[in-house]
Amino acid sequence: MAEKIKLYDDSKCTGCRGCQLACKQWNGLKAGQTKQWGSYQNPPTLQPNNYMIIHFQDVKDDKGGVKWLFRKEACMHCTDAACVTVCPSGALHYNRDFGTVGLNHELCIGCKNCVAACPFEVPKYDKATDRVYKCDMCESRLANNMAPACVKACPTGALSWGDKEAQIKKAEARAKAVGGTVYGPQYVGGTHMAYVLSEKPAVYAGIHLDPSVPLSVTLWRGFLKPVSLLAAGGILVGSFLHYLIKGPKLPYDDAEAGKKEGGE
Ligand code: SF4
Ligand code: SF4
Repeated sequence: MAEKIKLYDDSKCTGCRGCQLACKQWNGLKAGQTKQWGSYQNPPTLQPNNYMIIHFQDVKDDKGGVKWLFRKEACMHCTDAACVTVCPSGALHYNRDFGTVGLNHELCIGCKNCVAACPFEVPKYDKATDRVYKCDMCESRLANNMAPACVKACPTGALSWGDKEAQIKKAEARAKAVGGTVYGPQYVGGTHMAYVLSEKPAVYAGIHLDPSVPLSVTLWRGFLKPVSLLAAGGILVGSFLHYLIKGPKLPYDDAEAGKKEGGE
């Protein structure tokens, strides 16, 4: 199957948060206690039980008045995902059909490596379950040929799901039409989430303007991992050669060694 991308176009978003609710419903995420903190945006940040949020921001419009600016935040589904690189348990994985990044909670051991590695600060750790949570692009829906729940719920067409190339072309054309920018696929080796931002990226509060993979992850990918694999391969080859030359190790080998050590 072809790689696919989810596209969010803020110029079509009305901030209804239907997507946010659909995400909670489809993933069976518990409601949390929210409070008035001076914004319609709630909760203020991604949480273990909120895989996506819509940011609400007041900005000046062309006439000196005020307008809403909305922005969706969730996993960017990186092509070369730092979280997958550092996950020791295989909980984080690539979806072979679409290139997105899934998360099997059953396999998560709560080490939080992914929390430290993610250039977009997406995975959230839950102390109560000792596991990490994030958007998996509704893998269960994708497997059944359905679009992610947020896309299905969006009433304005601000969210769409489709083939990578076509979606990127669509995003570029829309960004040109609204005088905006495409954000996402140009970072960290590519993403499976793209945005049409109607304002310059710097206008959006909390957006990652220069997301980068930590040096430790880059070193692990480029040097330490290949070296450790080479070392593991060397041990295997050495053991095999030893077996060919010396033959199998027999129980009396140890007994003989014991006699020598004990001087008998
Ligand atoms: S945004 Fe973070 S959590 Fe999502 S795929 Fe990229 S590295 Fe992983
Ligand atoms: S916290 Fe879980 S998902 Fe994250 S790296 Fe560790 S095992 Fe993988």
